[in-house]
Amino acid sequence: MATIHIDNLTKRYRGKSTPALNHISLEIQSGMFGLLGKNGAGKSTLLKILTTLEQPTAGSITVNGIAIRNKAKIRNLIGYLPQHFGFYPNMKVFDALTYLAILAKVPPRQQKHRINQLLDEVNLSAQSTAKIKSLSGGMLQRLGIAQALINDPQVLIVDEPTAGLDPEERIRLRNLLTSFAQNRTVILSTHIVSDIAATTNKLGILNEGNLIFHGNSQKLIANA
Ligand code: ADP
Ligand code: ADP
Repeated sequence: MATIHIDNLTKRYRGKSTPALNHISLEIQSGMFGLLGKNGAGKSTLLKILTTLEQPTAGSITVNGIAIRNKAKIRNLIGYLPQHFGFYPNMKVFDALTYLAILAKVPPRQQKHRINQLLDEVNLSAQSTAKIKSLSGGMLQRLGIAQALINDPQVLIVDEPTAGLDPEERIRLRNLLTSFAQNRTVILSTHIVSDIAATTNKLGILNEGNLIFHGNSQKLIANA
């Protein structure tokens, strides 16, 4: 379980006249939180700051009280599935996760058990020895989630995870994220309203760098 405090966060990219994030304040508790917004709204920027890949221009973020400038500690707390990620196409699923487990410093004696457990959780046990290039889009996303969870992080952050998936795989992925959110903080960033409607009533809406709504979706409907 984790609590994320975002306080007055602003991000300006060099050469841009408008900020990608404009004085964002938000608290995210355990369970699933939906981050909704059109392309260019600032979602990826917020996620990249949270995962220490980008620096904020102003403002602060803490995860369980730890400031994001403590990169190593933050990276241990957070698992991240970026919008665009790649695996070596000729590698086998199990081997790719082993490679990532080594990078993530999972103790050697725990690696095999950890990877089998993750493959089971994301329903890829049958693909353990399959080459990555043979996987479907939905399987690749689930492998991406397994990779994000390799360190058993308290927070899982996923960026547009259902993009390009067929309806059946989309539902499968939503269910998977919902189950992970039972004992973690999951941030689901998406431009697809139904992704959020199907998984959570806690959401924030970004528009052109501004947080135009945050809270319970019931409140949004009541005010509409
Ligand atoms: P979203 O994830 O909601 O699509 P982004 O965070 O990717 O939004 O982008 C927000 C704004 O910041 C957009 O105007 C985008 O063009 C701009 N932006 C994102 N990354 C960079 C970057 N590295 N340099 C300059 N501008 C960027
Ligand atoms: P993502 O959606 O995951 O940010 P993109 O394909 O949009 O991935 O962006 C790839 C890279 O280009 C990222 O590092 C992003 O920060 C950067 N980028 C995105 N938009 C812009 C932009 N308008 N100007 C410069 N860099 C950008």
